[in-house]
Amino acid sequence: MSEPMNTYQTDNIFAKILRGEIACEKVFEDKDTIAFMDIMPQSEGHLLVVPKQASLGLLDAEQVVIGPLFTTVQKLAKAAKIAFYADGITIMQFNGASAGQTVFHLHVHIIPRYDNVPLRAHGTGTEKATTIKLNAEKIKNVLNEMAE
Ligand code: 5GP
Repeated sequence: MSEPMNTYQTDNIFAKILRGEIACEKVFEDKDTIAFMDIMPQSEGHLLVVPKQASLGLLDAEQVVIGPLFTTVQKLAKAAKIAFYADGITIMQFNGASAGQTVFHLHVHIIPRYDNVPLRAHGTGTEKATTIKLNAEKIKNVLNEMAE
């Protein structure tokens, strides 16, 4: 997907998810952020954290967005590590098509990692809906346990 000039486009996929126009496997939401499963996971349990406020990426985001965004990233990274028995967690965030960004609404990738297991290619291979749903349940269960 080519980079849409330098202005935010309200018809991007994550804006549509935020408006409820496209479905997602949501695992968490608060007043500033939403987290849901990536449909083309680079590893089992790959999820995305998206701020509700619109920006293309990190560079044009308002500073006030960053704290709540990374608070949710930390919460979900902890939950994903437990839910998927991960050895580590990769956090990724791309700015601009040249950097690999394909959806132009700020988002952070949370990717569970396993010793000696390479990442699958970025943005390829849509996962089965049943698997994504099952993985969302695993994270939600851990989030519930963390809240108790
Ligand atoms: P980016 O390349 O912009 O950093 O990441 C965009 C991510 O969004 C990719 O990992 C891709 O798999 C994911 N993605 C693309 N379309 C959809 C969609 O419709 N729903 C969900 N849940 N993820 C998507």
